[in-house]
Amino acid sequence: MEPYKIKVVESIAFTTREERERAMRDAGYNLFNVPAALVTIDLLTDSGTGAMSDRQWAGMMQGDESYAQARSFFSLEAVVRRVTGYRHVLPAHQGRAAENVLFSTILRPGDRVPSNIHFDTTRANVEHNRGVAVDCVKDVAYDPLADVPFKGDLDVAKLDRVVAEVGKERIPLVMMTITNNSGGGQPVSLENARAVSAWCRRLGIPFFLDACRFAENAYFNKVRDPACAGLSIEQIARAFFDLADGCTMSAKKDGLVNIGGFVACNDAEWAGRLANALILMEGFLTYGGLAGRDLEAMARGLEEVLDERYLAHRVGQVRRLGERLLAAGVPILLPVGGHAVYLDARRFLPHLPQTAYPAQALTCALYIEGGVRAVEIGGLMFGTVDEATGTAHWPELELVRLAIPRRVYTDDHLAYVADVCAKLYRERETVRGLRIVKRPAVLPHFTARLEPLA
Ligand SMILES: *Cc1c(COP(=O)(O)O)cnc(C)c1O
Repeated sequence: MEPYKIKVVESIAFTTREERERAMRDAGYNLFNVPAALVTIDLLTDSGTGAMSDRQWAGMMQGDESYAQARSFFSLEAVVRRVTGYRHVLPAHQGRAAENVLFSTILRPGDRVPSNIHFDTTRANVEHNRGVAVDCVKDVAYDPLADVPFKGDLDVAKLDRVVAEVGKERIPLVMMTITNNSGGGQPVSLENARAVSAWCRRLGIPFFLDACRFAENAYFNKVRDPACAGLSIEQIARAFFDLADGCTMSAKKDGLVNIGGFVACNDAEWAGRLANALILMEGFLTYGGLAGRDLEAMARGLEEVLDERYLAHRVGQVRRLGERLLAAGVPILLPVGGHAVYLDARRFLPHLPQTAYPAQALTCALYIEGGVRAVEIGGLMFGTVDEATGTAHWPELELVRLAIPRRVYTDDHLAYVADVCAKLYRERETVRGLRIVKRPAVLPHFTARLEPLA
């Protein structure tokens, strides 16, 4: 059961099918264009959509809004130092800002940055700073049915290949995303982090964590690795941080806040250079683009997320949604990750070719059926057209992600979501494909407009 009770409630919207059909037409069959006020259950993302605790809201009231050396900064610094062990803590308004502070400081053009799988914003920040982002996850991560415990693990042999290609001088750091968001929220094992850390230390290459879901990752290690069973979440998380030299963090995930992030590291010389970038891009060193109250809420969220009862419920709730879907025969990605369940749109809608955007068609159908908002991760997000030859490139997978906000929905809400998916699955032949009417050049999935095929 939920290890908390509910003190404040927010009404959710109930709409008629006609209203949803109209909203879908007005939105150009793109869920990013649908007003949130017309969404019943919003599973678009788990980022910044969580509910804060009474302790965090109390912290908001007690936030110190001083420009320099605010008390709230020291609250955050103390917690981050305790949880990560890193000496230097630089707040930023969210994860991608922390990434930009890091990469704009340490990257030179042509540098390679390996990771298990880079998250979109990490990749974009590497490339914006004229580096090359290289995904080095083990191949099993790309098999949607391979039910393995640590599907986020990085393949050290692939790191060797990057060195063979460009030399270790062109690798300013290795990143590791825990949990591996773009690979389905899959955990990384402590053993794998040890291997990557040892590899980095042998070659003298710094090792950083993209630590957005560090607590969920620690929980998976606790329940899946017998060597971690006797350790607390805090000890397991600390073991990961100890293996690395620093981290970037979007606190909109495991910081349990609606806005916030940071970059932290041990090296004083790097910290000094990061500080210059921070002042330029985000703000003074003790607020980093945030209000004092946000720093206070983040400090408290980072403590609360280490509660094993909270994590057991959190990860269990996502898993139970997956089990409900499996019981109804609905095809999903395996195993279920820490923050989301992914529907496999290829198997859900086998009558639709990839050119008809099956995953996007499924997100639209879920909304029309039950007012549930999910996000497409398929041909609309990742499909590209080669301008010179006119040939289209399609991604391997057509997925629909149901991302679960933290402490927001109860199991009853998610049972409803499972019912909507199951009903749609029974009536799957009625789902029509889509075609693009307007496709912007950059990040097309956010603003593209589509229409149903005849
Ligand atoms: C969300 C996320 C980011 C970026 O964080 P924002 O706060 O959205 O800027 C980076 N990496 C991973 C793994 C994420 O999930």
